[in-house]
Amino acid sequence: MSKGGNGDRCECIYLDHNATTPVAPEVLQEMLPYFSQRFGNPSSVHAIGRQAKAGLREARARVAALINASPEEIIFTGCGTESINLALKGTLLPAVGGALGGGGFSNGRSHAITSAVEHHATSHTLDYLSSFGVETTYVPVDRYGMVDPDEVRKAIRPETKLISIMHANNEVGTLQPVEEIATLAGEYGIPFHVDGVQALGKIPVDLCRLGCTFYSMSAHKVYGPKGVGALFIRKGSRPTSILQGGSQEDGLRAGTENVPGIVGFGKACELAREGLTREVEKYWRLRSILLRLVEEVDAVRLNGHREHTLPNSASLAFAHVDGMTLMLNLSLRGICVSTGSACSVRSLKPSHVLLAMGLNEEAAYSSLRFSVGRSNTEGEMERVVEEVKRLVLKLRLVSEARSVGVCGPDCPCYFR
Ligand code: PLP
Repeated sequence: MSKGGNGDRCECIYLDHNATTPVAPEVLQEMLPYFSQRFGNPSSVHAIGRQAKAGLREARARVAALINASPEEIIFTGCGTESINLALKGTLLPAVGGALGGGGFSNGRSHAITSAVEHHATSHTLDYLSSFGVETTYVPVDRYGMVDPDEVRKAIRPETKLISIMHANNEVGTLQPVEEIATLAGEYGIPFHVDGVQALGKIPVDLCRLGCTFYSMSAHKVYGPKGVGALFIRKGSRPTSILQGGSQEDGLRAGTENVPGIVGFGKACELAREGLTREVEKYWRLRSILLRLVEEVDAVRLNGHREHTLPNSASLAFAHVDGMTLMLNLSLRGICVSTGSACSVRSLKPSHVLLAMGLNEEAAYSSLRFSVGRSNTEGEMERVVEEVKRLVLKLRLVSEARSVGVCGPDCPCYFR
């Protein structure tokens, strides 16, 4: 059984690390003094304020070190979603002379390019921006969820003001060719935002090599606290602030900083950097055990890419099985997985990511996402494989029986 990050016994096998991770004990330890001892406002110039400011400074350096950037290129925000909003709105609204002001290169026309498999933090922000006249092209993906850089090139227009593509997909794990897209964006002089929320801490990220303009991050995906994010902004670039108020974070994020949270994020990044090589190897091993399901059970398909993927993620389609029913049955057996992204599960719509990859609705509804993490063991994966196999066979029998009218919807064999 996995142990929770704070040392409490967590009586489940938690395989939903792409939704969120527990706060690592070392992270919590480092945060605690900032609640009641070093509680100062970092904008205060007295000793207590300076302690808090020092905490921010160290955290900024630690986040920057994980992505090979300079501390001055890191702006702390309230979450990954806010970082994405800052990059997108702060770049695209001034281009249409939008409500946030900022002027700059306003010519009244603004166009953005993104992919069909982005997180809603990106796609819903671009939907919102359409009411300000920002047009968006959604480039398609292949059957593994991968963008073709040529499609991005074809979508570029004279008025293209931003390209935004995720580094790693949260549902299927597929990695995007962000290095090639960065080169392309550079050729045309177009700012390039990368949603790095899922990639951070799971694969090496080197922003000296990856020539993007913005890179969004979130603490709670890397064993840090919820409610903290960061945006990398390359030297020489400056989005317009989307919050008006104080001059915190170089005037780009008004509001007193969440010092304990930011300190925790810094520590989480330090731990991620120290453990990355070891953890990546372990994730590949655990994932390969899970992928035995594809070989050992009929009609099970890996949705994402086999190699160009986050090492911790596998999205599997189980033909003739309802993913939600399988997920609930696994939960009853102490195994926590997800039917898709944590944010879309409430909508009960088939995943837009899987549909964009060409799956039909039935296959999309039959898919589950497994995302392993630090505390998982090979023994746990063996158990998960056995439980999933048993349940899939059973649910298929049930659905066959239901289709000839033997089982009703309340049949107890659904939950055994
Ligand atoms: N981008 C991706 C790819 C994500 O997976 C998530 C969260 O699941 C976000 C952005 C949003 O991050 P946050 O929850 O910190 O707002």
